[in-house]
Amino acid sequence: MRAVITGGGVAGSAGAIALARIGVEVTVYEAYQDPAGPVGSFVSLAVNGLRALDALGCLDTVRRAGFDVARQRMWSGSGKLLGDVARGRRPADTLHSVTLLRADLVTALRDQARHCGARIVTGQRVSGAAADREDADLFVGADGIWSGTRRELDPAAPEPAYAGLYSVSGVSDLSRVPADLPRDGFNWVFARRGVFIYLPAPDGTVWWTAQVVATEPPHDRAGVSLADLSDLFRTERPTAAVLGAATAIRAVNPGYVLKPVSRRYAGRTVLIGDAAHPAGAGQGASMALEDAVILARHIATGSAVPDALAAFDRERRPRAGKLAAMETRSRDTKTSGPITAWARSLVMPHLFNHFYEKATGWLYDINPGSLTLPAARTSTARNH
Ligand SMILES: Cc1cc2nc3c(=O)[nH]c(=O)nc-3n(C[C@H](O)[C@H](O)[C@H](O)COP(=O)(O)OP(=O)(O)OC[C@H]3O[C@@H](n4cnc5c(N)ncnc54)[C@H](O)[C@@H]3O)c2cc1C
Repeated sequence: MRAVITGGGVAGSAGAIALARIGVEVTVYEAYQDPAGPVGSFVSLAVNGLRALDALGCLDTVRRAGFDVARQRMWSGSGKLLGDVARGRRPADTLHSVTLLRADLVTALRDQARHCGARIVTGQRVSGAAADREDADLFVGADGIWSGTRRELDPAAPEPAYAGLYSVSGVSDLSRVPADLPRDGFNWVFARRGVFIYLPAPDGTVWWTAQVVATEPPHDRAGVSLADLSDLFRTERPTAAVLGAATAIRAVNPGYVLKPVSRRYAGRTVLIGDAAHPAGAGQGASMALEDAVILARHIATGSAVPDALAAFDRERRPRAGKLAAMETRSRDTKTSGPITAWARSLVMPHLFNHFYEKATGWLYDINPGSLTLPAARTSTARNH
Protein backbone atom coordinates (compact mmCIF):
# COMPACT_ATOMS: atom_id res chain seq x y z
CA MET A 1 0.00 0.00 0.00
CA ARG A 2 1.27 3.54 -0.80
CA ALA A 3 0.44 6.78 0.99
CA VAL A 4 1.24 10.37 0.08
CA ILE A 5 1.17 12.90 2.92
CA THR A 6 1.00 16.63 2.23
CA GLY A 7 2.72 18.50 5.08
CA GLY A 8 5.63 17.37 7.22
CA GLY A 9 4.76 19.22 10.43
CA VAL A 10 3.63 17.47 13.60
CA ALA A 11 0.66 15.60 12.10
CA GLY A 12 2.35 14.69 8.80
CA SER A 13 5.61 13.45 10.34
CA ALA A 14 3.75 11.49 13.03
CA GLY A 15 1.38 10.10 10.38
CA ALA A 16 4.43 8.97 8.37
CA ILE A 17 5.81 7.03 11.34
CA ALA A 18 2.47 5.41 12.16
CA LEU A 19 1.72 4.37 8.57
CA ALA A 20 5.28 3.16 7.92
CA ARG A 21 5.11 1.14 11.13
CA ILE A 22 2.09 -0.79 9.79
CA GLY A 23 3.87 -1.53 6.53
CA VAL A 24 2.67 1.31 4.28
CA GLU A 25 5.14 2.88 1.82
CA VAL A 26 4.98 6.58 2.71
CA THR A 27 6.13 9.76 0.96
CA VAL A 28 5.77 13.11 2.72
CA TYR A 29 5.96 16.44 0.89
CA GLU A 30 6.81 19.45 3.05
CA ALA A 31 6.90 23.03 1.77
CA TYR A 32 9.70 24.31 4.05
CA GLN A 33 13.26 23.06 4.52
CA ASP A 34 13.48 24.40 8.06
CA PRO A 35 11.54 22.17 10.50
CA ALA A 36 10.30 25.25 12.37
CA GLY A 37 8.65 26.61 9.21
CA PRO A 38 7.05 29.89 10.15
CA VAL A 39 6.20 28.72 13.71
CA GLY A 40 9.45 29.04 15.63
CA SER A 41 7.71 28.84 18.96
CA PHE A 42 7.47 26.23 21.70
CA VAL A 43 4.70 23.68 22.22
CA SER A 44 3.51 21.90 25.34
CA LEU A 45 2.45 18.28 25.06
CA ALA A 46 -0.18 16.94 27.42
CA VAL A 47 -0.15 13.29 28.50
CA ASN A 48 -2.56 12.22 25.74
CA GLY A 49 -0.04 13.48 23.16
CA LEU A 50 2.82 11.84 25.07
CA ARG A 51 1.01 8.48 25.01
CA ALA A 52 0.65 8.81 21.25
CA LEU A 53 4.40 9.54 21.05
CA ASP A 54 5.03 6.39 23.05
CA ALA A 55 3.04 4.38 20.49
CA LEU A 56 5.21 5.98 17.76
CA GLY A 57 8.42 5.04 19.60
CA CYS A 58 9.52 8.66 20.18
CA LEU A 59 8.54 9.43 23.75
CA ASP A 60 12.05 9.25 25.23
CA THR A 61 13.61 11.30 22.43
CA VAL A 62 11.00 14.02 22.78
CA ARG A 63 11.31 14.10 26.57
CA ARG A 64 15.08 14.53 26.20
CA ALA A 65 14.59 17.36 23.70
CA GLY A 66 12.34 19.28 26.11
CA PHE A 67 11.62 19.49 29.80
CA ASP A 68 8.91 18.25 32.14
CA VAL A 69 6.43 20.77 33.53
CA ALA A 70 4.57 19.48 36.56
CA ARG A 71 2.36 22.41 37.60
CA GLN A 72 0.26 25.11 35.99
CA ARG A 73 -0.33 28.26 38.03
CA MET A 74 -2.75 31.03 37.22
CA TRP A 75 -1.98 34.56 38.49
CA SER A 76 -3.83 37.85 38.45
CA GLY A 77 -1.94 40.84 37.06
CA SER A 78 -1.33 42.02 40.63
CA GLY A 79 0.43 38.77 41.48
CA LYS A 80 -2.42 37.04 43.36
CA LEU A 81 -2.40 33.23 42.96
CA LEU A 82 -5.73 32.24 41.36
CA GLY A 83 -5.12 28.52 40.80
CA ASP A 84 -2.43 25.83 41.04
CA VAL A 85 -3.14 22.57 39.20
CA ALA A 86 -1.38 19.61 37.54
CA ARG A 87 -0.27 20.64 34.03
CA GLY A 88 -1.65 18.63 31.09
CA ARG A 89 -2.52 15.52 33.14
CA ARG A 90 -4.64 14.17 35.97
CA PRO A 91 -2.93 15.00 39.30
CA ALA A 92 -2.22 11.31 40.00
CA ASP A 93 -0.53 10.77 36.62
CA THR A 94 3.22 10.31 37.05
CA LEU A 95 3.83 11.21 33.39
CA HIS A 96 4.33 14.99 33.26
CA SER A 97 3.55 17.40 30.45
CA VAL A 98 6.61 18.18 28.27
CA THR A 99 7.47 21.53 26.68
CA LEU A 100 9.88 21.82 23.77
CA LEU A 101 10.53 23.89 20.66
CA ARG A 102 8.20 22.95 17.82
CA ALA A 103 11.28 22.58 15.57
CA ASP A 104 12.78 19.99 17.94
CA LEU A 105 9.50 18.05 18.05
CA VAL A 106 9.24 18.03 14.25
CA THR A 107 12.93 17.04 13.90
CA ALA A 108 12.47 14.09 16.30
CA LEU A 109 9.37 12.94 14.42
CA ARG A 110 10.98 13.27 10.99
CA ASP A 111 14.08 11.35 12.16
CA GLN A 112 11.89 8.53 13.44
CA ALA A 113 9.78 8.56 10.25
CA ARG A 114 12.94 8.14 8.13
CA HIS A 115 14.16 5.43 10.48
CA CYS A 116 10.86 3.59 9.90
CA GLY A 117 11.38 3.82 6.12
CA ALA A 118 9.28 6.87 5.17
CA ARG A 119 10.57 9.23 2.45
CA ILE A 120 10.40 12.92 3.36
CA VAL A 121 10.82 15.47 0.60
CA THR A 122 11.37 18.96 2.04
CA GLY A 123 11.24 22.32 0.31
CA GLN A 124 8.47 21.14 -1.99
CA ARG A 125 4.98 22.63 -1.86
CA VAL A 126 2.48 20.32 -3.55
CA SER A 127 -1.17 20.63 -4.43
CA GLY A 128 -3.68 17.82 -4.23
CA ALA A 129 -3.68 17.69 -8.00
CA ALA A 130 0.10 17.14 -8.05
CA ALA A 131 -0.23 14.46 -5.38
CA ASP A 132 -2.97 12.83 -7.44
CA ARG A 133 -0.54 12.16 -10.25
CA GLU A 134 1.18 9.74 -7.89
CA ASP A 135 -0.13 6.26 -7.82
CA ALA A 136 -1.12 6.12 -4.16
CA ASP A 137 -3.84 4.32 -2.22
CA LEU A 138 -4.13 6.94 0.49
CA PHE A 139 -3.73 10.75 0.50
CA VAL A 140 -3.30 12.42 3.86
CA GLY A 141 -3.82 16.17 4.11
CA ALA A 142 -1.61 17.16 7.07
CA ASP A 143 -1.11 20.64 5.67
CA GLY A 144 -2.11 22.69 8.69
CA ILE A 145 -4.71 25.34 9.35
CA TRP A 146 -4.41 26.85 5.83
CA SER A 147 -4.91 23.38 4.30
CA GLY A 148 -5.23 23.32 0.53
CA THR A 149 -6.35 19.68 0.76
CA ARG A 150 -9.34 20.80 2.85
CA ARG A 151 -10.32 23.25 0.09
CA GLU A 152 -9.94 20.54 -2.54
CA LEU A 153 -12.18 18.19 -0.57
CA ASP A 154 -14.79 20.92 -0.19
CA PRO A 155 -14.51 24.27 -1.99
CA ALA A 156 -17.07 25.62 0.53
CA ALA A 157 -14.94 24.57 3.53
CA PRO A 158 -14.42 27.28 6.17
CA GLU A 159 -11.30 29.45 6.00
CA PRO A 160 -9.35 30.55 9.09
CA ALA A 161 -10.28 33.92 10.59
CA TYR A 162 -8.15 36.09 12.87
CA ALA A 163 -8.96 35.19 16.50
CA GLY A 164 -8.57 38.67 17.99
CA LEU A 165 -5.19 37.87 19.54
CA TYR A 166 -1.66 37.30 18.36
CA SER A 167 1.20 35.64 20.20
CA VAL A 168 4.77 36.81 20.65
CA SER A 169 7.19 34.23 22.06
CA GLY A 170 10.68 34.78 23.35
CA VAL A 171 13.28 34.04 25.99
CA SER A 172 14.58 35.82 29.09
CA ASP A 173 17.58 35.37 31.34
CA LEU A 174 16.32 33.67 34.52
CA SER A 175 19.20 35.09 36.61
CA ARG A 176 17.85 38.61 35.92
CA VAL A 177 14.26 37.75 36.96
CA PRO A 178 13.50 38.72 40.60
CA ALA A 179 14.00 35.76 42.97
CA ASP A 180 10.45 35.94 44.39
CA LEU A 181 8.90 34.92 41.04
CA PRO A 182 8.36 31.14 40.55
CA ARG A 183 11.40 29.14 39.35
CA ASP A 184 9.32 26.35 37.81
CA GLY A 185 5.92 25.52 36.31
CA PHE A 186 3.74 26.92 33.56
CA ASN A 187 2.77 30.37 34.88
CA TRP A 188 -0.19 32.06 33.31
CA VAL A 189 -0.75 35.76 34.12
CA PHE A 190 -4.05 37.49 33.29
CA ALA A 191 -2.73 40.91 32.23
CA ARG A 192 -4.64 43.92 30.94
CA ARG A 193 -3.47 43.51 27.34
CA GLY A 194 -3.81 39.73 27.21
CA VAL A 195 -2.50 36.55 28.76
CA PHE A 196 1.21 36.22 29.48
CA ILE A 197 2.67 32.72 29.94
CA TYR A 198 6.16 32.02 31.24
CA LEU A 199 8.08 28.85 32.07
CA PRO A 200 11.49 28.80 33.70
CA ALA A 201 13.58 26.23 31.78
CA PRO A 202 16.36 24.01 33.16
CA ASP A 203 19.00 25.80 31.03
CA GLY A 204 18.72 29.05 33.01
CA THR A 205 16.37 30.80 30.59
CA VAL A 206 12.68 31.65 30.84
CA TRP A 207 10.47 30.77 27.87
CA TRP A 208 7.49 33.08 27.48
CA THR A 209 4.56 33.83 25.21
CA ALA A 210 2.48 36.98 25.30
CA GLN A 211 -0.98 36.48 23.81
CA VAL A 212 -1.87 40.05 22.94
CA VAL A 213 -5.51 41.01 22.50
CA ALA A 214 -5.76 43.27 19.44
CA THR A 215 -8.41 43.99 16.81
CA GLU A 216 -5.79 43.38 14.10
CA PRO A 217 -2.55 41.39 14.05
CA PRO A 218 0.69 43.37 13.53
CA HIS A 219 1.14 44.32 9.86
CA ASP A 220 4.87 43.76 10.05
CA ARG A 221 5.68 40.74 12.24
CA ALA A 222 9.43 41.33 12.00
CA GLY A 223 8.82 44.86 13.27
CA VAL A 224 7.44 43.74 16.67
CA SER A 225 10.06 44.74 19.22
CA LEU A 226 10.76 43.85 22.83
CA ALA A 227 10.34 47.53 23.66
CA ASP A 228 6.78 47.58 22.20
CA LEU A 229 5.87 44.40 24.04
CA SER A 230 7.34 45.57 27.34
CA ASP A 231 5.28 48.72 26.98
CA LEU A 232 2.05 46.71 26.50
CA PHE A 233 2.76 44.59 29.61
CA ARG A 234 4.44 47.22 31.79
CA THR A 235 1.60 47.61 34.33
CA GLU A 236 1.76 44.06 35.75
CA ARG A 237 4.79 43.32 37.88
CA PRO A 238 5.43 39.65 36.85
CA THR A 239 5.16 40.39 33.13
CA ALA A 240 7.27 43.55 33.41
CA ALA A 241 9.90 41.57 35.37
CA VAL A 242 10.13 38.71 32.84
CA LEU A 243 10.14 41.04 29.85
CA GLY A 244 12.69 43.27 31.59
CA ALA A 245 15.08 40.28 31.48
CA ALA A 246 14.21 39.34 27.86
CA THR A 247 17.05 38.57 25.48
CA ALA A 248 15.19 37.68 22.26
CA ILE A 249 11.89 37.34 20.46
CA ARG A 250 11.54 33.89 18.89
CA ALA A 251 8.32 34.18 16.90
CA VAL A 252 5.26 36.31 16.25
CA ASN A 253 2.13 34.39 15.22
CA PRO A 254 -1.40 35.68 14.68
CA GLY A 255 -4.02 33.40 16.29
CA TYR A 256 -6.68 31.93 14.01
CA VAL A 257 -10.02 30.25 14.50
CA LEU A 258 -11.75 27.90 12.11
CA LYS A 259 -15.41 26.95 12.05
CA PRO A 260 -16.05 23.17 12.25
CA VAL A 261 -14.91 21.36 9.11
CA SER A 262 -17.74 19.15 7.92
CA ARG A 263 -15.98 17.27 5.09
CA ARG A 264 -12.82 15.74 6.49
CA TYR A 265 -12.47 12.73 4.22
CA ALA A 266 -13.67 11.54 0.84
CA GLY A 267 -12.61 8.55 -1.21
CA ARG A 268 -8.91 7.97 -0.56
CA THR A 269 -8.23 11.38 1.02
CA VAL A 270 -8.34 12.32 4.71
CA LEU A 271 -7.42 15.38 6.78
CA ILE A 272 -5.48 15.12 10.04
CA GLY A 273 -4.14 17.64 12.57
CA ASP A 274 -4.88 21.35 12.22
CA ALA A 275 -6.19 20.81 8.67
CA ALA A 276 -9.14 18.92 10.17
CA HIS A 277 -9.62 20.58 13.53
CA PRO A 278 -7.38 23.38 14.80
CA ALA A 279 -7.62 22.63 18.49
CA GLY A 280 -6.05 25.42 20.55
CA ALA A 281 -6.25 25.12 24.35
CA GLY A 282 -2.67 23.78 24.28
CA GLN A 283 -3.88 20.58 22.59
CA GLY A 284 -3.20 21.12 18.86
CA ALA A 285 0.01 19.12 18.73
CA SER A 286 -1.29 16.40 21.06
CA MET A 287 -4.43 15.99 18.96
CA ALA A 288 -2.33 15.81 15.78
CA LEU A 289 -0.24 13.01 17.35
CA GLU A 290 -3.37 11.14 18.41
CA ASP A 291 -4.78 11.48 14.87
CA ALA A 292 -1.67 9.89 13.39
CA VAL A 293 -1.82 6.78 15.57
CA ILE A 294 -5.57 6.33 15.30
CA LEU A 295 -5.58 6.77 11.51
CA ALA A 296 -2.96 4.04 11.11
CA ARG A 297 -4.92 1.77 13.45
CA HIS A 298 -7.99 2.07 11.20
CA ILE A 299 -5.96 1.59 8.01
CA ALA A 300 -4.40 -1.53 9.55
CA THR A 301 -7.77 -3.22 9.95
CA GLY A 302 -7.60 -4.15 6.29
CA SER A 303 -10.98 -2.57 5.48
CA ALA A 304 -11.31 -0.77 2.17
CA VAL A 305 -9.58 2.63 2.51
CA PRO A 306 -12.79 4.73 2.24
CA ASP A 307 -14.40 2.60 4.98
CA ALA A 308 -11.31 2.90 7.18
CA LEU A 309 -11.37 6.70 6.74
CA ALA A 310 -15.06 6.86 7.63
CA ALA A 311 -14.43 4.81 10.78
CA PHE A 312 -11.46 7.06 11.67
CA ASP A 313 -13.65 10.14 11.31
CA ARG A 314 -16.45 8.64 13.44
CA GLU A 315 -13.95 8.00 16.21
CA ARG A 316 -12.28 11.44 16.06
CA ARG A 317 -15.18 13.82 15.42
CA PRO A 318 -16.80 13.88 18.91
CA ARG A 319 -13.47 14.49 20.65
CA ALA A 320 -12.49 17.30 18.27
CA GLY A 321 -15.94 18.92 18.69
CA LYS A 322 -15.76 18.82 22.48
CA LEU A 323 -12.27 20.32 22.40
CA ALA A 324 -13.37 23.10 20.04
CA ALA A 325 -16.08 24.11 22.53
CA MET A 326 -13.50 24.15 25.32
CA GLU A 327 -11.14 26.28 23.22
CA THR A 328 -13.87 28.87 22.61
CA ARG A 329 -14.40 29.21 26.37
CA SER A 330 -10.64 29.49 26.94
CA ARG A 331 -10.31 32.23 24.28
CA ASP A 332 -13.22 34.18 25.77
CA THR A 333 -11.38 34.17 29.11
CA LYS A 334 -8.25 35.55 27.46
CA THR A 335 -10.03 38.36 25.66
CA SER A 336 -12.44 39.40 28.43
CA GLY A 337 -12.47 42.94 29.83
CA PRO A 338 -11.65 44.50 33.22
CA ILE A 339 -14.97 43.63 34.94
CA THR A 340 -14.51 39.94 34.16
CA ALA A 341 -10.91 40.22 35.36
CA TRP A 342 -12.09 41.72 38.65
CA ALA A 343 -14.74 38.97 39.13
CA ARG A 344 -12.15 36.33 38.19
CA SER A 345 -9.71 37.44 40.88
CA LEU A 346 -12.48 37.16 43.49
CA VAL A 347 -13.96 33.83 42.42
CA MET A 348 -11.11 31.79 40.91
CA PRO A 349 -9.05 31.20 44.07
CA HIS A 350 -12.04 29.42 45.61
CA LEU A 351 -13.24 27.40 42.64
CA PHE A 352 -10.53 26.87 40.03
CA ASN A 353 -8.50 24.03 41.56
CA HIS A 354 -11.68 22.13 42.36
CA PHE A 355 -13.30 22.41 38.93
CA TYR A 356 -10.24 22.28 36.69
CA GLU A 357 -9.76 18.52 36.84
CA LYS A 358 -13.48 17.93 36.19
CA ALA A 359 -13.39 20.24 33.18
CA THR A 360 -10.21 18.92 31.57
CA GLY A 361 -9.71 15.34 32.85
CA TRP A 362 -11.57 13.78 29.89
CA LEU A 363 -8.80 15.01 27.58
CA TYR A 364 -6.18 12.90 29.31
CA ASP A 365 -8.33 9.79 29.76
CA ILE A 366 -8.20 8.71 26.12
CA ASN A 367 -8.48 4.92 25.96
CA PRO A 368 -4.91 3.59 25.78
CA GLY A 369 -6.17 0.85 23.44
CA SER A 370 -6.94 3.47 20.83
CA LEU A 371 -3.32 4.64 20.95
CA THR A 372 -1.68 1.35 20.01
CA LEU A 373 -0.29 0.36 16.63
CA PRO A 374 -0.77 -3.13 15.24
CA ALA A 375 2.21 -4.79 13.58
CA ALA A 376 1.22 -4.56 9.91
CA ARG A 377 -1.74 -3.95 7.64
CA THR A 378 -3.55 -7.21 6.98
CA SER A 379 -4.79 -6.42 3.47
CA THR A 380 -3.65 -4.13 0.69
CA ALA A 381 -7.06 -3.93 -0.98
CA ARG A 382 -7.27 -0.72 -2.97
CA ASN A 383 -10.58 1.05 -3.30
CA HIS A 384 -11.31 4.28 -5.08
C1 LIG B 1 2.48 30.03 18.55
C2 LIG B 1 1.85 28.69 18.67
C3 LIG B 1 1.93 28.01 19.88
C4 LIG B 1 1.35 26.75 20.00
N1 LIG B 1 1.42 26.13 21.20
C5 LIG B 1 0.91 24.88 21.32
C6 LIG B 1 1.03 24.15 22.54
O1 LIG B 1 1.58 24.63 23.54
N2 LIG B 1 0.51 22.90 22.59
C7 LIG B 1 -0.07 22.33 21.50
O2 LIG B 1 -0.49 21.16 21.60
N3 LIG B 1 -0.22 22.99 20.34
C8 LIG B 1 0.26 24.25 20.23
N4 LIG B 1 0.13 24.92 19.06
C9 LIG B 1 -0.59 24.28 17.97
C10 LIG B 1 0.28 23.27 17.28
O3 LIG B 1 1.51 23.84 16.88
C11 LIG B 1 -0.49 22.74 16.07
O4 LIG B 1 -1.78 22.33 16.47
C12 LIG B 1 0.23 21.56 15.51
O5 LIG B 1 1.51 21.96 15.08
C13 LIG B 1 -0.59 21.00 14.34
O6 LIG B 1 0.22 20.22 13.54
P1 LIG B 1 -0.09 20.05 11.99
O7 LIG B 1 0.99 19.17 11.51
O8 LIG B 1 -1.50 19.69 11.81
O9 LIG B 1 0.07 21.50 11.37
P2 LIG B 1 1.40 22.32 11.18
O10 LIG B 1 2.31 22.12 12.34
O11 LIG B 1 0.98 23.69 10.83
O12 LIG B 1 2.11 21.65 9.93
C14 LIG B 1 1.58 21.73 8.63
C15 LIG B 1 2.74 21.57 7.68
O13 LIG B 1 2.25 21.45 6.36
C16 LIG B 1 3.11 22.17 5.50
N5 LIG B 1 2.34 22.48 4.29
C17 LIG B 1 1.22 23.23 4.19
N6 LIG B 1 0.78 23.25 2.91
C18 LIG B 1 1.65 22.48 2.19
C19 LIG B 1 1.71 22.10 0.81
N7 LIG B 1 0.81 22.52 -0.07
N8 LIG B 1 2.74 21.32 0.40
C20 LIG B 1 3.67 20.87 1.30
N9 LIG B 1 3.65 21.20 2.61
C21 LIG B 1 2.64 21.99 3.06
C22 LIG B 1 3.52 23.38 6.32
O14 LIG B 1 4.70 23.96 5.85
C23 LIG B 1 3.67 22.78 7.71
O15 LIG B 1 4.99 22.32 7.96
C24 LIG B 1 0.68 26.18 18.90
C25 LIG B 1 0.61 26.85 17.68
C26 LIG B 1 1.19 28.10 17.56
C27 LIG B 1 1.09 28.83 16.24
